[in-house]
Amino acid sequence: MHAHTNNSNYLNFNTMSNTKYIFVTGGVTSSLGKGIISASLAKLLQARGYKVTIQKLDPYINVDPGTLNPYEHGECYVTSDGAETDLDLGHYERFLNQPTTQGNNVTTGRVYQSVINKERKGEYLGETVQIIPHITDEIKNRIKILGNQGNFDFVITEIGGVVGDIESLPYVETVRQLKWELGSNALVVHLTLIPYLAAAGELKTKPTQHSVKQMLQLGVQPDILVCRTEHQLNQGLRNKIALFCNVEPTSVIESIDTDTIYNVPLLMREENLDTEVLRKMNVKDNRKTVLDDWTKFLKQLKNPTHEVTIALVGKYIELKDSYKSILESFVHAGAVNLCKVNIKMIHSEEINEENAEFMLKGMDGILVAPGFGNRGIEGKIDAIKVAREQKIPFLGICLGMQCAVIEFGRNVLGYENAHSSEMNSRTPFPVIDMMEEQKNITDLGGTMRLGSYPCSVHKDSKAYEAYQTQDIDERHRHRYEFNNEYRDAFSKAGMIPTGINTNHNLVEIVEIPDHPWFVGAQFHPEYKSTVANPHPLFVAFVKAVKKNK
Ligand code: GLN
Repeated sequence: MHAHTNNSNYLNFNTMSNTKYIFVTGGVTSSLGKGIISASLAKLLQARGYKVTIQKLDPYINVDPGTLNPYEHGECYVTSDGAETDLDLGHYERFLNQPTTQGNNVTTGRVYQSVINKERKGEYLGETVQIIPHITDEIKNRIKILGNQGNFDFVITEIGGVVGDIESLPYVETVRQLKWELGSNALVVHLTLIPYLAAAGELKTKPTQHSVKQMLQLGVQPDILVCRTEHQLNQGLRNKIALFCNVEPTSVIESIDTDTIYNVPLLMREENLDTEVLRKMNVKDNRKTVLDDWTKFLKQLKNPTHEVTIALVGKYIELKDSYKSILESFVHAGAVNLCKVNIKMIHSEEINEENAEFMLKGMDGILVAPGFGNRGIEGKIDAIKVAREQKIPFLGICLGMQCAVIEFGRNVLGYENAHSSEMNSRTPFPVIDMMEEQKNITDLGGTMRLGSYPCSVHKDSKAYEAYQTQDIDERHRHRYEFNNEYRDAFSKAGMIPTGINTNHNLVEIVEIPDHPWFVGAQFHPEYKSTVANPHPLFVAFVKAVKKNK
């Protein structure tokens, strides 16, 4: 009864376009930087003129990371098509300067959800639905669709987690099948760790040997090993790794610790990662990698003429990854401004009315972060009061913008207990309120205002000065909005809506013109900042901070 003789589920890859598929797996430990290696390899291939995309397969059961606490998994990155995705997609966009979509992030939850939905609709025609072939076919399908739809030369698929984890087994199995089916059009880059034992004064290759053995047990021979290390790998060590792991010595690539992730493409070029990949995939190519803009960016980044310190007020500060895109946006904006931007993370729960000034002492600028829920909200509002009154440049993002509206309502307009109805549903002044469309939704996953929306910017504003255009598109992730009933009162008192979504009549940007630089954005500018295109609002904010210092 378990026989599945019907071959219809098995995909025929012979009919595929000439897309090449590179899989990036990880061994020994997590956090080795598979996302950065994937993005760097993609950058090098892109710099030779290839059309490349990167995909992340996440083995957890959540359908998307939208419902994950930032402490669990870092920031939730939002694509322009409104997908709530893994933060690695942010790296992909920042490196390639190319948007990603829902198809670039697949989770086990999503895979099972679609297989189960098909089963319920009877699409498997009475077959026993199994991990092989049904789950692996679903995974393959999602890899293949991406390659075909975008007409890519290369799809780089990063597999989350570490080889040997129970939950990543179906993914490694999928890689095994694809290597078999695609031959030299598929390649596996395995990222591993070469630890340094200080007591022995030695780099150790055994964990790498074992992780390659794990892969072999699952039927996958890695083609290239990228070895994370704190010290240089000499030729003898490379030969040893090659011998034990069945790879050529030239396929042992060193990935040494470096001070900025933006060095990694250049380090990988020095190690010939891209030429090795092309050679292994039988691609004859003598085009040069053109990385002039990248090198220029690095030069600016490393030679600042100014230095500022900006407070990042949020409640997930213990884990830096929670604000990944914001931190990277400051790196991009700092480079353009030739300004080193130090970020001081301040926990909003530690700020109160009495200590706010003291806590923010010495800060050249203040950013209040996005977020959800009541915890730490008053500290954010108190920090904004200091920024507003002491004329310290301020950028509020999403919840940060909403807090700026609440603060202004309470302290300038005298609306006692003004609040967002998210935090206090009985506030007498719901200056931030839920949108009508959101009121009957009870599910939490994927139900917010998500993705890209147009916004029209007033000519006479800081935002316009930054963007130099009136028509912008920015990405959103929220349920609550500026309450239009209060628009006139706020404008009269000096907080002006300077960006409007004209289709839905929603306030997207607020500013205080009587302040050196006070901007709140309902959207998330940080998702759109890239090395090639630093975000105008961050660039203008850093510029204002620099000027104000
Ligand atoms: N919690 C707020 C809302 O849902 C803000 C969300 C955010 O900052 N991303 O509207």
